Amino acid sequence: MYYNQDTIVYLDGKWVSGANATTNLYAQTLHYGNGVFEGIRSYETENGAQIFKAKEHYERLLYSAKAMHIPFNYTVDKLISLSYELLKKNKIEDAYIRPLLYQGEEMSLKPAKESHLLLCAWSWAKYLGDKKVRLVTSSYERPNPKSTNIQAKVVGHYTNSILATKEAQQKGYDEALLLDSQGYVAEGPGANFFYEKEGVLYTCPLGNILSGITRQTVFEMAEALGYPLIEKYFTPDDVYNADGAFFTGTAAEIAPIESLDDYTFKKPWEDTIGYIFSKNYQKLVREHKSNFYETAY
Ligand code: PMP
Repeated sequence: MYYNQDTIVYLDGKWVSGANATTNLYAQTLHYGNGVFEGIRSYETENGAQIFKAKEHYERLLYSAKAMHIPFNYTVDKLISLSYELLKKNKIEDAYIRPLLYQGEEMSLKPAKESHLLLCAWSWAKYLGDKKVRLVTSSYERPNPKSTNIQAKVVGHYTNSILATKEAQQKGYDEALLLDSQGYVAEGPGANFFYEKEGVLYTCPLGNILSGITRQTVFEMAEALGYPLIEKYFTPDDVYNADGAFFTGTAAEIAPIESLDDYTFKKPWEDTIGYIFSKNYQKLVREHKSNFYETAY
């Protein structure tokens, strides 16, 4: 699904076959999870492939590498041009691009001196599909920001996401909603969370969540289109009688949520601000206009 015999990946400065590329089994990332990564989307547009917010994604990769003490000397510009080359070599435009910066051989608990960069890409449908998600509050909390750097997109953090996703599915739901260590709503396993009530959008402040690039796009959209958006702490109880809710993420885009803990939101998705934003998001990424007024749905 992610590669075939024709797939080309970028590994440590070389373009190599994805099917034949190998890695060191003593790499620290495999054993202890100290690696950082990104999830980026490119879209087929009239002007060819356009990577959405490439600069923001690679700035976050550099931030994550620094936070985890992983040596890395690529510039944002270089990473962007390599990403376009990757798309050309694999002849794909609508693609999910996965940069992974992983650590070399090191079995002690100090960061490895050596790091490796993998860039690969594949075609990937919206992460949560088009159906409206049935959410359940997770028994797992997001990692406490005092135990890690939660703003960094670290490989090891995703064991928390995998546990929460599996638990939600075992209980018969589509996806999990994780709380922070104070009992406030934080985010999904791989997406930020918003809800809507009486014409106002709400989301939690930064601190316990990944600072999502799609989340930031929603802030820009709310400002441009004139919808009030408030950052505040809230509990699942506050969400139960919401008019609507959605997830935001590069892979999920703007994804409709139908219910939380079996409390179905009051409005049909098509009547919510989230729906208007999801339409605008598609126009924005596919038409690649920087001004929301030009793309307003
Ligand atoms: N939170 C988590 C835990 C994530 O993994 C992601 C996906 N990167 C997001 C939020 C959304 O971030 P972005 O919009 O930058 O993709």
